[in-house]
Amino acid sequence: MRKGIVAIVGRANVGKSTIFNRIVGERVSIVEDIPGVTRDRIYANASWLTREFRLIDTGGIELANASFTEQIKMQAQIAIEEADVIIFVVSGRESVTREDEFVARMLQKSNKPIILAVNKIDDQAFKDSIYDFYSLGIGDPIAVSGSHGIGIGDILDEIVQLLPQVEEEKEEDVIRFSIIGRPNVGKSSLTNAILGEDRVIVSDVEGTTRDAIDTAFEKDGQKYCVVDTAGMRKKGKIYESVEKYSILRALTAVEKSDVVLVVIDGDRGIIEQDKHVAGNAHEAGKAVILVVNKWDLVAKDSKTMQKMENELREQFKYLDYAPIVFVSAKENKRVDLLLPMIQEVYANSHKRVSTSVLNDVLIDAQTMNPTTTFNGGRLKIYYANQVSICPPTFVLFTNDPQYLHFSYKRYLENRLRDAFGFEGTPIHIICRKRD
Ligand code: GDP
Ligand code: GDP
Repeated sequence: MRKGIVAIVGRANVGKSTIFNRIVGERVSIVEDIPGVTRDRIYANASWLTREFRLIDTGGIELANASFTEQIKMQAQIAIEEADVIIFVVSGRESVTREDEFVARMLQKSNKPIILAVNKIDDQAFKDSIYDFYSLGIGDPIAVSGSHGIGIGDILDEIVQLLPQVEEEKEEDVIRFSIIGRPNVGKSSLTNAILGEDRVIVSDVEGTTRDAIDTAFEKDGQKYCVVDTAGMRKKGKIYESVEKYSILRALTAVEKSDVVLVVIDGDRGIIEQDKHVAGNAHEAGKAVILVVNKWDLVAKDSKTMQKMENELREQFKYLDYAPIVFVSAKENKRVDLLLPMIQEVYANSHKRVSTSVLNDVLIDAQTMNPTTTFNGGRLKIYYANQVSICPPTFVLFTNDPQYLHFSYKRYLENRLRDAFGFEGTPIHIICRKRD
């Protein structure tokens, strides 16, 4: 299920990052620590009640040498393009400013749900100042104090109310995929090559409230949707070159996809920024394909491909399940392999295995390679269940999860992969104590 995206906007110093930290709080979920991937302050997972969402602090995305007005215009634009719900923060310690009005007008035009948070209302004495902000025409202001943690629950309630019910909206038989990578690796070229001429483009859906522009098409009876080609088509906007923005765009595109194509420039090789992109794809738990583009530019001998493959495996160890494809978008070479592969990894990420076969595989695995003592005990696995798909997630009921050594977990994961064929999808194994 897609998590909703919530963005915080507002002029400098109103308390955006304070509120961001309050909302994210202890709930920042760090799935795994991936070397080379630095976690951005501007983007985090959050949850409230049963809803999970992603929170963006647009204040963290800065344009070099820009005026305050240009800065905030860009930030509001990003919020409008990326978010399902926008939190507009103003300061209750000051009256309405020109910049507040400017942002309010931009947001009004967007038709996105907006929560107006009047911050720095630290005690009742300031409470009345929130009424001034009705003049922004955004609706009822909510009094909050980021630094004292007041009113944050009200904002969270409001977010949960306003987030779209994405499950109902999703069309069952459409495979949604995105093409991500640093600038200039060939994402646009690849999109065009995939869409080609023989694909029937079903629709060019201009921004419903949620998505930017997605392209739906059909090939060999399968419906697909390329997520987030908007950023590629509308190239040339000043902020396209802001690195944090391109990272953010990749993150939101990944969130909206079933399958992610991580594109590397085969001619330039792997650079730091690629690791960031790949790490984010992995963490989202989506099916992943590694695409090495511009292979036409590479001087090749019989070992070149293997060398590149080794390097990718070495640099992206955590993506060992992702198939690698070498293509040239420009010369349209091997691009036709991508859709069948997308179909396959999609199917793998949606695979459900039967409980009895699953348990047979795990019994065999333990017979072949029994557990050893770790943390003062030996792990016994009583039985296992697959609890979800996307990614396939298994719960092992055991005598004590503490006894599970990570290398044994790795071993079990490999056994499951051998038995069921989960190419292209991460799988999660959760260990529980049997009550
Ligand atoms: P941003 O630039 O919008 O991200 O604002 P910050 O979160 O960095 O906050 C700007 C300043 O306002 C900092 O000095 C914060 O300590 C202060 N601040 C943030 N929230 C509150 C609040 O609820 N009450 C008061 N009195 N100060 C706050
Ligand atoms: P994006 O920024 O990732 O969307 O990259 P573009 O699709 O705009 O491509 C960047 C540049 O690389 C353009 O000049 C493309 O013509 C070129 N390019 C893209 N794919 C290939 C390829 O497979 N081979 C070669 N030689 N050039 C390519």
